[in-house]
Amino acid sequence: MSEEAIERESMEVDVVIVGGGPAGLSAACRLMQLATEREQEISVVVLEKGSEIGAHILSGAVFEPRAMNELFPDWRERGAPLNTPVTEDQVLMFRSAEKAIHMPHWMHPKPMRNDGNYIISLGEVCRWLGEQAEALGVEIFPGFPASEILFHEDGSIKGVATGEMGRGRDGEVKGSYEPGMELHARVTLFAEGCRGHLGKQLIRHFELDAESATQHYAIGVKELWKIDKAKHKPGLVLHGAGWPLSESGTTGGSFLYHLGEDTVSLGLITDLSYSNPYVSPFDELQRFKLHPEIRHFLEGGERIAYGARAITKGGLNALPKMVLPGGLLIGCDAGTLNFSKIKGSHTAMKSGMLAAETVIDVLAGEAELEAYATRFAASWLYDELYRSRNFGAAIHKFGTWMGGAYNYLEQNWFGGKLPLQLKDPVPDHETLKPAAECQPIAYPKADGVLTFDKTSSVYLSSTNHEEDQPVHLRLAEVERALAVNLARFAGPEERFCPAGVYEFVNRDSEPELRINAQNCVHCKTCDIKDPTKNITWVTPEGTGGPNYTSM
Ligand SMILES: Cc1cc2nc3c(=O)[nH]c(=O)nc-3n(C[C@H](O)[C@H](O)[C@H](O)COP(=O)(O)OP(=O)(O)OC[C@H]3O[C@@H](n4cnc5c(N)ncnc54)[C@H](O)[C@@H]3O)c2cc1C
Repeated sequence: MSEEAIERESMEVDVVIVGGGPAGLSAACRLMQLATEREQEISVVVLEKGSEIGAHILSGAVFEPRAMNELFPDWRERGAPLNTPVTEDQVLMFRSAEKAIHMPHWMHPKPMRNDGNYIISLGEVCRWLGEQAEALGVEIFPGFPASEILFHEDGSIKGVATGEMGRGRDGEVKGSYEPGMELHARVTLFAEGCRGHLGKQLIRHFELDAESATQHYAIGVKELWKIDKAKHKPGLVLHGAGWPLSESGTTGGSFLYHLGEDTVSLGLITDLSYSNPYVSPFDELQRFKLHPEIRHFLEGGERIAYGARAITKGGLNALPKMVLPGGLLIGCDAGTLNFSKIKGSHTAMKSGMLAAETVIDVLAGEAELEAYATRFAASWLYDELYRSRNFGAAIHKFGTWMGGAYNYLEQNWFGGKLPLQLKDPVPDHETLKPAAECQPIAYPKADGVLTFDKTSSVYLSSTNHEEDQPVHLRLAEVERALAVNLARFAGPEERFCPAGVYEFVNRDSEPELRINAQNCVHCKTCDIKDPTKNITWVTPEGTGGPNYTSM
């Protein structure tokens, strides 16, 4: 079959939204609410690459309901899955594999206090938001990744095209070939979450980050456990810092949240600015579970889910311009997360709602998209991000404890208003030291009870990709991966990938990089951390990726 013979079909809509996460769905709901209020007829389409809304959503999550209260003041009556109010906050300083100090409540940094918040599954909240959006008249297309940005002749954004299906691993079209579809929109909202495939291209193409500080990221690896009911304390929120990451001089933090029923969500967030190429964020989580403060909850329990996702954490200082000709970049695709709280759901939602309030005026011919910048600057979202703007950079510059102390003073004593701007200009892919200068890390072997290997973990994420398709992790140069990454950094992709996608194998006594693309959980870490910027993550065929049920 000749692919040229199959033309892409196109569809005209008012607004196309790329990504069905908190940002995209909140924008969709708010647009429809406003259109109804104003008796304005509009068409809104949401494209989601996961097999259903929520399938690719992974979060902690402690949820701050501020944006939800504004979007659906009656969310309780509508049955939003915010079922477990936070009852207790604990903050631990993990000193070693055996020791930890519980910090008294008065020493908790203000952003770590969770009174009035809820422990949730963000995937479930997104499914619920998806239902609200559909009831309001939004069309949601799950299983349709937006893979290409379309431009008008004047350079402004015309919309997006969805990915094609039915091309083999060798790039040749198969009998099942179907071209993508073009969605032409008056306004396109990009809400792909951290390190969006299109968002990254837009930032480069329009130089959106020309005036912002260097963006930074972390990788969050998470598990869900069913635990002994006698140990379960619904509403308990535990945050930690220090061990095990401190052993390699790496910064980051840990969490353990007691959801309703007998489930806990636990995870480790590793800042991707780490320097020791032997660090494996996956294995760091495995050994974290062996700490007495954590293992006592898990013993006798059963692990029921696994996943990983990167986090955009540079905050306000690193936020690129969000206004594009013909569109807006919102949520974690831009970087609206408040890292001092490790919370980005309410901020992503608010950025989507502000986008909707702007776009509805644009569609009515009453405003330009530039109005978004003014609306954002006048919002509580801006105020919140402003107060926490130095958090990440302080940790990078001064380390976990001194950086933590700085943040405590800035947040608790000065309300985030010290006239300082801290920045870390070194991008995460440039921080690795040569392996020869670093200490290899001896991670304990998986015991199959508390600790596990990557294969059995990825199995729990229900990740699935059509195997006969082009590899969606593109290497600019195969030789570079071997010459630089293997020789200089001891093959860090084997370790920074939490899903076992990258493997150095020997073929005829020569090393070769094997890419097990079907394992990819779409966390995007490789696209961020690869020291030679050799790896580009592109969207695979629709529905491919994890199938999280309640992450
Ligand atoms: C381990 C971890 C713990 C966290 N803990 C918390 C917490 O406790 N509280 C909190 O508030 N926040 C937390 N966060 C952050 C929070 O999850 C994010 O800030 C939030 O999910 C961002 O929302 P978003 O809509 O911008 O992006 P996302 O939630 O990432 O949603 C983006 C959606 O777009 C889809 N998509 C992406 N690209 C495309 C494409 N090209 N075409 C079609 N669809 C696409 C994705 O599949 C996904 O469904 C945590 C994050 C992690 C990783």
